[in-house]
Amino acid sequence: MTDVLALAEHRRGSLRDVSFEMISAGRELADAQGGDLHLAVIGGDVDSFADDLNREGVDAIHTVAEGEEFNHDVYVQAIEQLYAEVAPTALLIPNSVNGLDYAPAVAERLDVPLVTDAVGLDRNGALEVTREMYGSKVATTVEVDADEVVVTVRPAEWPQAEGEGSAEIQSFDADIDESQVRSTVTGFEEVGGGDVDISDADVLVSVGRGIEEEENIELVEALADALGATLSSSRPIVDSGWLPKNRQVGQSGKVVTPKVYIAVGISGAVQHVAGMKGSETIVAINTDPNAPIMDIADYAIVDDLFDVVPELIEEFGGEAP
Ligand SMILES: Cc1cc2nc3c(=O)[nH]c(=O)nc-3n(C[C@H](O)[C@H](O)[C@H](O)COP(=O)(O)OP(=O)(O)OC[C@H]3O[C@@H](n4cnc5c(N)ncnc54)[C@H](O)[C@@H]3O)c2cc1C
Repeated sequence: MTDVLALAEHRRGSLRDVSFEMISAGRELADAQGGDLHLAVIGGDVDSFADDLNREGVDAIHTVAEGEEFNHDVYVQAIEQLYAEVAPTALLIPNSVNGLDYAPAVAERLDVPLVTDAVGLDRNGALEVTREMYGSKVATTVEVDADEVVVTVRPAEWPQAEGEGSAEIQSFDADIDESQVRSTVTGFEEVGGGDVDISDADVLVSVGRGIEEEENIELVEALADALGATLSSSRPIVDSGWLPKNRQVGQSGKVVTPKVYIAVGISGAVQHVAGMKGSETIVAINTDPNAPIMDIADYAIVDDLFDVVPELIEEFGGEAP
C-alpha cells in the first residue's frame, strides 16, 4: 500500500491545467514512497479526458462516467468507492474551488486526516507536507502522523506533466446512491464580467498602481494588444474599479503561470508575487530599482513607464493611444 491516487479536474468540457500538475505532484510522491500513480477523472467526456491525461508518469487512469459537470455528492461517493478499490496511502485533490468543496467530505468519510494547500510533498518515513503561511512569508512543514492522508495540492506549484504516457485506462463503475445526490448544477455563471481567463494566457501584461489614473490603463492595454497578450493587474487596480476582478493576479486573485509576465508599475508585494512567481520569464518596468519585483524579475527596465511603454508599443508594431 504505497500507491497515490490523484484527481483530475475539468470545467465546461475541458480539463483544467491543474490536472496535469496533479500528475507531476502525484508522480513525485509515488516515487518517494515507491508506489504507482493512479489518476481519476469523474464526469464529462471521460474517455477523451483519459486520452489527454495519459502522460508520462501515470500508471493507471480510472474513468468514472457519472454526470457532465462537477457534483459534490457524486464525487464524494465515487471517490470513496474508488479509494477502497485502489487502496492508496495518499489521495491528492486540487486545491481549487471544487477540490476544497469535496476534499473535507471525502476525508471525513474515509476517516483520514486532511492537509490543505500543499506546495511541497516529501516522504522521510512520515509524509511531510509543505504549506505557506502569513501571505507566503513563512513555509511550514506538516508531518502527517497517519498511514493514509488526503492532501489538496495548490495549483501552479508543480509543472504540467508532458510526454506521452502508457497508462492503463480502466472504467470504474461507481454505485451512486441517487437518493444521496442532493445537489445539481443548474447553470454556470462567470464571476467578475467577461469570459477572459488570465490563467490560460501565454503572455500577460500586468498593470499596477504606477499607472496613476484610470484613463492611463489604455496605454498598457495598447501594449498588450501589440504583443497579442492578455491584460491583467495588481489588486489596487481592481479595488479602484478600473478593471474587473477576473483580471487580478495574486493571493486573493488568480494564480497565473504564463510564458512571459510583464509587470508594469507593480511593486511586487508578497500577495501579488504569490500569484505570478511561477511565470517562466518575468519582465519588470519600474522606476524603483529596489522594488521587490526586481528580486524575481528576469529582465528589468528601470525607467518611467510613460516613456517605456509607448516605445515598446511602437517597437511591436502597435499604436500608442
Ligand atoms: C489579504 C491581502 C490580500 C491581497 N491580495 C492581493 C492580490 O491578490 N494581488 C495583489 O496584487 N495585491 C494583493 N494585495 C495587496 C498588496 O499587498 C499590495 O498592496 C499590492 O499588490 C500593490 O499593488 P501595486 O504593486 O500595483 O502598487 P504599489 O505597491 O503602490 O506599487 C506601484 C509601483 O509602481 C512603481 N511606479 C510608480 N510610478 C511609476 C512610473 N511612472 N513608471 C514605472 N513605475 C512606477 C513604483 O515604484 C511602485 O513599485 C493583498 C493585500 C492583502 C492584505
